[in-house]
Amino acid sequence: MCKQTKPVRRPFGRITTPLLALPMALLLAVLLSQGDPACFMEPDRKFAYAAVWILDMWLFYKMLRTGKTDRYRAVLFIAFALALSVTFISRMFEARGAMTFNHADLLQCEVPFCHIVTTMILIPAALSDSIIFPGRIEGGFADISSMLVIVFGALLIMGRGFCSWGCFYGGWDDAFSRLSKRKRWKNPPASLRWGGFALLLLVAVTSASMLSPTYCDWICPFKAVTEYEAVESVEAGLKAIIFISLFLVLVIVLPIVTQKRTQCAWFCPMGAFCSSTGKVLSPYQVRIRTDTCLKCGKCIRVCPMGALDKDSLETGKATMGCSLCGKCVDVCPNGSISYHVRYSGKANKPTLSRLLFLYSGFLFLAVFSGGSLQQFILLLLRGVARLTIQS
Ligand code: SF4
Ligand code: SF4
Repeated sequence: MCKQTKPVRRPFGRITTPLLALPMALLLAVLLSQGDPACFMEPDRKFAYAAVWILDMWLFYKMLRTGKTDRYRAVLFIAFALALSVTFISRMFEARGAMTFNHADLLQCEVPFCHIVTTMILIPAALSDSIIFPGRIEGGFADISSMLVIVFGALLIMGRGFCSWGCFYGGWDDAFSRLSKRKRWKNPPASLRWGGFALLLLVAVTSASMLSPTYCDWICPFKAVTEYEAVESVEAGLKAIIFISLFLVLVIVLPIVTQKRTQCAWFCPMGAFCSSTGKVLSPYQVRIRTDTCLKCGKCIRVCPMGALDKDSLETGKATMGCSLCGKCVDVCPNGSISYHVRYSGKANKPTLSRLLFLYSGFLFLAVFSGGSLQQFILLLLRGVARLTIQS
């Protein structure tokens, strides 16, 4: 017999919540400035900095006070993806006059590095001591060294949680998976969750044998909203068609009809890499209390990564695909799912584990997204100023 437990709706009170949020407020006040004094001096920079700090703190406060995670996380995560694409494309226009790159940019290593490339450079780097990506090792916008530090730091702390708290692309399919009220494709085959792992193997092997980042070269859907090779040949034209088609299908159409993050769950080699490393390294998980679970299946239906199935309700564990988004925790009518600190065993306290996880996940998301969001606000302010002067 299942025990009916009262879900914890407001884990912290009116006085405790601000006190618990205070360290985050101080950390973000320092980290969002990125050590640049202009944040406190130039009026538009000051406004952008303050706006992002207020948004972050409002979301974090609501997470603590309401006990809900996913709806507040998603606001920042989706805003991050949109802001990054807009500011990235605008930077590319400033630097090159277009969102495409050409042969000269490749030769000068002027292509920004993205975390997904990590899955393609490791084997060639180990075998040949060289990085098979035309980006700057250090000193450029999105250089290889700083991105690798960020990626491995995030993997260590969050594992696959990176896909809901760190990835600057994930907000795209997260947003589209929320658009439709009705699931039109109710039961996609569970085997599709292995797609990312098959792709990880494929791109690792092909990149090592061809000494080029094959996923980036041919099948990354997010090229459509960042940068891609200028269409100056049949091959480049074919690639552009593939990027845009994959974006439409995997990031827009399938998330709408399945209410799942299909690109991230089925087609991302980085997601599979995070799952594999996170299984060993990450201290955080979600766990189901099998003794109180009502077997209602709500958590299975809402999981955007397809990381829960009937077995999970028996074993108490999500599969490796869990991105720690918190949606299942939020919807469980009996409070049977919670964040869990690995190896804490019976000493695990759900409220404390969630607080620890939120401090790791939210801090990472807020700091990582902070630069793009401030840049986005500055772009808007400067656009409005230009229009006002012209009129
Ligand atoms: S939502 Fe999931 S964990 Fe919660 S009671 Fe229903 S089946 Fe059990
Ligand atoms: S199992 Fe829960 S926390 Fe993990 S991805 Fe699914 S809904 Fe999110």
